Amino acid sequence: MKVASIGCTDYNYGQVKEKVVQTISLLGGIEEFVSSGDTVLLKPNLLSPHQPKLGITTHPAVVKAVIELVKDAGGEVKVGESSGGMMINHSLTQQAFKETGIKEVCQDLGVELINFDRVETKIMTSGQGEEIPLPKVLLEADVVISLPKIKTHSLTLFTGAIKNLYGCIPGAKKAEYHKLYPNPRDFAGLVVDLFSLIKPQLTIMDGIVGLEGNGPGTTGDRCEVGTILAGSDLVAVDTVAASYLGYGADEVPITSIANQQDLGTNDLDNIEILGDFKRPEREYKLPSNALLNLLPNWLLGSVFNSFLSSPKIMQEECVQCKRCLHSCPQKVIVEKNDKLKIELDDCIKCLCCQELCPKEAIVVTEHKLVQLIKQVKKFWS
Ligand code: SF4
Ligand code: SF4
Repeated sequence: MKVASIGCTDYNYGQVKEKVVQTISLLGGIEEFVSSGDTVLLKPNLLSPHQPKLGITTHPAVVKAVIELVKDAGGEVKVGESSGGMMINHSLTQQAFKETGIKEVCQDLGVELINFDRVETKIMTSGQGEEIPLPKVLLEADVVISLPKIKTHSLTLFTGAIKNLYGCIPGAKKAEYHKLYPNPRDFAGLVVDLFSLIKPQLTIMDGIVGLEGNGPGTTGDRCEVGTILAGSDLVAVDTVAASYLGYGADEVPITSIANQQDLGTNDLDNIEILGDFKRPEREYKLPSNALLNLLPNWLLGSVFNSFLSSPKIMQEECVQCKRCLHSCPQKVIVEKNDKLKIELDDCIKCLCCQELCPKEAIVVTEHKLVQLIKQVKKFWS
């Protein structure tokens, strides 16, 4: 299996366009994936309303370059997304379109930008028997291209081409699945099921700047990686990208499960990496929960969630926007004496609140076991 990875150091549009073209050329060119007249649905990662410079959302320069490439091949392009988070009567998707710069790109290039929260859906049944509503416009596209951002993720440890597809599920339904699948490994299984229902033909990843530490939102740390990756095997592309951040092949549950289900390969020995990119000689910070990978499965089984990091609101940073309160699937964020508090007894530690907070006001508190593992690791290193 081939994964293309070309070095790209910044978001200067001329450079991004050239590098995207080079990356796809290594896979045989865009014509390998798009025929003239095809409807092509692009799915960027627009997690929530953030400016491109924060490294949280797929950069508009990358989206623009891919739109132009697909148009040149004769494809009819549409861009679609359902961002995370809810307010009282509406989602944050429209706001995300604007703040991430994607609305402007689509307007300039005359491309339809689709809010997946407002379109007709079709219920698809996943391998686990879960009924997942998906936008008809996505299911009817001739070609789907996932355009993720390279990032660490507190719950799933890594988010790339496959996890990006979670934003195809409209609105509040996304939060409901967190409630139904509170165990991170079960949740990863659901994401893989979703992937098997959509099966994009191609992914082109914005790996120029991403997040390390406790991503995928504002509490992650912006980091430069310096590459654009692409491939038709999304499991392979995610595995290579995750390895750049420091993960071993089986350390990311989503790619590990997808590999077990023959949806792609996470075997780095069987992945041919094409292109000139050299991984920076540095260590990236992984999320606190990644340390739980060091423990044997039998120890984690049914008590896994109790070891996960917990969210905590930093009152001095909180601007009372209430995104967290309206988005929490468990409704355990409550207002008391003009302050927001998390009732941890019923918190499932999905960290959606942390992911969506615009002000880095929700931090994670590591479980004592994780703190102990850290100390032991430090002692032995
Ligand atoms: S903690 Fe963050 S998301 Fe919640 S109200 Fe405060 S600023 Fe908004
Ligand atoms: S408080 Fe945060 S981590 Fe806990 S259930 Fe709600 S959104 Fe998830």
